[in-house]
Amino acid sequence: MTLSKDLSSSISAKKLPIVNTQAQQSVEIATNTDDDLEIPTSCSIIRADVSLKGLTTWKVGGLAQWYLEPRTVEETQQGLAWAKQKELAITIIGAGSNLLISDRGLQGLVICTRHLRHVNTQLDSETQTIVADAGKMVASLSWQAARRGWGGMEWAAGIPGTVGGAVVMNAGAHGHSTQEILVSAEVLNLDGTISTLSAADLNYSYRTSSLQCDSRIVLSAKFQLQAAGDPEEVKARTFRDLEKRHSKQPYDRPSCGSVFRNPSPLYAAALIEDLGLKGYRIGDAEVSRLHANFIINRKDATASDIRALIYYVQRQVNARHGIELEPEVKMLGEF
Ligand SMILES: Cc1cc2nc3c(=O)[nH]c(=O)nc-3n(C[C@H](O)[C@H](O)[C@H](O)COP(=O)(O)OP(=O)(O)OC[C@H]3O[C@@H](n4cnc5c(N)ncnc54)[C@H](O)[C@@H]3O)c2cc1C
Repeated sequence: MTLSKDLSSSISAKKLPIVNTQAQQSVEIATNTDDDLEIPTSCSIIRADVSLKGLTTWKVGGLAQWYLEPRTVEETQQGLAWAKQKELAITIIGAGSNLLISDRGLQGLVICTRHLRHVNTQLDSETQTIVADAGKMVASLSWQAARRGWGGMEWAAGIPGTVGGAVVMNAGAHGHSTQEILVSAEVLNLDGTISTLSAADLNYSYRTSSLQCDSRIVLSAKFQLQAAGDPEEVKARTFRDLEKRHSKQPYDRPSCGSVFRNPSPLYAAALIEDLGLKGYRIGDAEVSRLHANFIINRKDATASDIRALIYYVQRQVNARHGIELEPEVKMLGEF
């Protein structure tokens, strides 16, 4: 994409965000209105044509038309305002561990929250509450809690996602999930205002929240854990959960975890395995031989390979069992 067409047409003295291409060209965009934005300092560069491949755990996906990694709430607000002014669509990504991004990339502005960790995580020993920014990894919170002997987050140790992603996805494992421990989440609305939502506001159910249907950005979350007592016991439980996971899931290959939601009371993995689909491939995308609800990228899979495999598995399960498996993974962009 060239930078000049849409953005440099109106020129005057006031500086706008510095926009870099991946090739490190830097361009100052100018404008003729007083209301335009200047996103300050080097950590708030909006870049063009950024590859999203390395920003997802499946290691697939095309380019973001525009890309921003804000480090503060203010930079996030400014990014939103900039996109609004340019009438660009906004996509939020965390650690990209539940995303299938099209090989054709994403139009508009992609805001990645992984550096949204401007305030230190607050762990209150009196109340066993944790307040963490959206970009903090839940696995690291889980260990921080375990070291203090706080229970309730052992299940999160193997989840490679951010706090924001966990709040939105209602991430969970081993019969527990985010909704059990979430007290509230601070969200940035599209108009730049900030609201605090309670867990009840999020209409939680299995791997679902009301935040999946809108464009609000989770900035931080507050979790209530339990004072379980002996840190060694909580650490041991956390290790046990993690070991169970590592023995049953293909952590050595790029994936997005479970591809399909479990059609309660059945398990998607059991339905897929029953069809003999373990090891089935399209291109370099393969139904894991270790866990049938995982699709791994053997090396050079494309998003289209993965999507074709998802549809293939869906069709097979439907034909044999009459069950429509619903993807848990979020598919973004045009396929
Ligand atoms: C090996 C592996 C194992 C996994 N195991 C589990 C498991 O046991 N349980 C489980 O639940 N999941 C699991 N997952 C899936 C994934 O880790 C979770 O869904 C996780 O919560 C996603 O977080 P993320 O930061 O990567 O979000 P992303 O994948 O980046 O985004 C997911 C969704 O959340 C939105 N989002 C992310 N951050 C924000 C934010 N700050 N504000 C607003 N919206 C936001 C995105 O727009 C998108 O719709 C696994 C994934 C892998 C790769």
